[in-house]
Amino acid sequence: MTGESSKKKILLVEDEKHLAFTLSYNLEAEGYEVKVAENGELALRRYQQEGPFDLIILDIMLPEIDGFEVARRIRAIDKTTGILMLTARATENDILSGLAIGADDYLTKPFILQELMLRVKRMLERSGMMIKANTTRKLVSGHIELDLDNLELKSVNGTYQITSLEAELLGEFLQNPQKILTREHLLKTVWGSSGRIETRTVDNFIMRIRKYIDLPNSESYILTVRGKGYKFQPPTSP
Ligand code: CA
Repeated sequence: MTGESSKKKILLVEDEKHLAFTLSYNLEAEGYEVKVAENGELALRRYQQEGPFDLIILDIMLPEIDGFEVARRIRAIDKTTGILMLTARATENDILSGLAIGADDYLTKPFILQELMLRVKRMLERSGMMIKANTTRKLVSGHIELDLDNLELKSVNGTYQITSLEAELLGEFLQNPQKILTREHLLKTVWGSSGRIETRTVDNFIMRIRKYIDLPNSESYILTVRGKGYKFQPPTSP
């Protein structure tokens, strides 16, 4: 037996006791190790003292320190641990702020348990892949240089530490220049999402990536193809 240490470790931050219980029960049944924190302060303490975690499931509406602030503080020191946000208020602003802080995905309450389990599985598979890789995988297109292993992105705008999801999404474009990639395709390949399609997630991530790579006052390298999706137009000169 490989024992406890081989289990993927999840930090579940949720103040609704019943939901926290249901989620941790089901996640543990799937073979994950789950630590529950019922408020933001406890979440940060557990993160520091009981980490590292493979994934953080983070409710936004929490007493005192809310989920946004928890994500902000964690992202200030940790760019790679996946963060799945749970939001009761599916307002555009909430979703945008969550993703801007560095959450990788979100689910709107109430959600279907199966959908959460699927997202968790997919996010954990991805983080495992990133850690397993032992050769540096670099993708270069003009002035854009993406280091998939160190999650470092260089462009004329500067050098950025990005999240694994941002890296995967940009990687998908760099590897498929001049090809229209639909939102559904991106959700499937990058997020592994099946069932309910939340295309806004894709749009928000595209906005973030554009900020990293685009030159000010010029056309984006990631073109919006109306009614279809997005297309990567590689920079013509370095
Ligand atoms: Ca809550």
